[in-house]
Amino acid sequence: LAEPLFADVAGDIAVSFEFFPPRTEKMEETLWQSIATLAPLGPRFVSVTYGAGGSTRERTHSTVARIQRETGLEAAAHLTCVEASRDEIDAVARDYWAAGIRHIVALRGDPPEQGKAFASHPQGYANAVELVRGLKAVAPFEISVAAYPECHPESRNRAADLDNLWRKIDAGADRAITQFFFTPDCFFRFRDQAAVMGIDAEIVPGILPVSNVAQTRKFAGQCGADIPDWMDRLFEGLDNLPAARQLVAATVAAELCGRLYAGGVRHFHFYTLNRAELAYAICHLLGLRPAPQAAEKAA
Ligand code: FAD
Repeated sequence: LAEPLFADVAGDIAVSFEFFPPRTEKMEETLWQSIATLAPLGPRFVSVTYGAGGSTRERTHSTVARIQRETGLEAAAHLTCVEASRDEIDAVARDYWAAGIRHIVALRGDPPEQGKAFASHPQGYANAVELVRGLKAVAPFEISVAAYPECHPESRNRAADLDNLWRKIDAGADRAITQFFFTPDCFFRFRDQAAVMGIDAEIVPGILPVSNVAQTRKFAGQCGADIPDWMDRLFEGLDNLPAARQLVAATVAAELCGRLYAGGVRHFHFYTLNRAELAYAICHLLGLRPAPQAAEKAA
């Protein structure tokens, strides 16, 4: 029998956590509890998403600024090109810089109305490549961009998608964070193809611990990720057993991460959905422990 998956982990990983801006007071409380739980793990950065059509502009800004101000963590702001002119986006970026935010996750974004083709603002950035260039002209931000191990649904083919990623890196992006995926081979194939294309920036797998398959399927349909049939089978009959569902979710995500680790991955980006437990448990399995001072403070 092979060694247990986590027998050789050394805690030699970097992690980052993604959150979305809360809509209600209750959600805000959950978010800050999650940040407090995950902060001692010393993430390389934490990022806050930007709602479709810029709908969360204010909330993204205030959440990112508060994380940066109050936690000492590096906060990264997601920013999209949707329904905004270049001048408006540049102004948002300047505000971030003034607030001490040095890291932007630069995205084209999706059209506000689902199913419609993306149309850029007449005076806007047309895509993420242009946005990266624009942001770099505003200030020397660290920039992360999106990558798609299973191809973006709008791309002509795999080669065009990789070429687009190459152009984002060439425009000044420092790393790519992937859309979620559920088999390690999917990521390794993509990493190899990117290397062949001469993409030398770090490609960080985006990990989505799934505990609600129906909801994830809805998401996945929009972004070109495939949910394997075995995922449905694993969650069958657990609708009314939330704790069992969490255990299954942790097992599935942890196995994916363990295999990615065995394949050399050392930075994991977690789509937390503002919940700490699953991401925390997986980081723990990968050998990550709170920094000693942080552990003392928490005690
Ligand atoms: P781009 O890199 O610009 O590319 C989009 C597609 O168009 C690709 O298929 C590309 O090949 C094609 N394309 C681009 N330019 C050209 C061209 N000149 N000619 C031909 N084809 C071209 N969305 C949000 O609204 N808010 C968020 O906070 C957010 N965060 C995300 C975080 C991560 C890590 C990821 C992976 C995605 C995130 N998204 C977010 C979703 C993202 O906005 C969508 O996937 C969007 O459809 C594409 O954005 P992009 O930056 O990848 O676009």
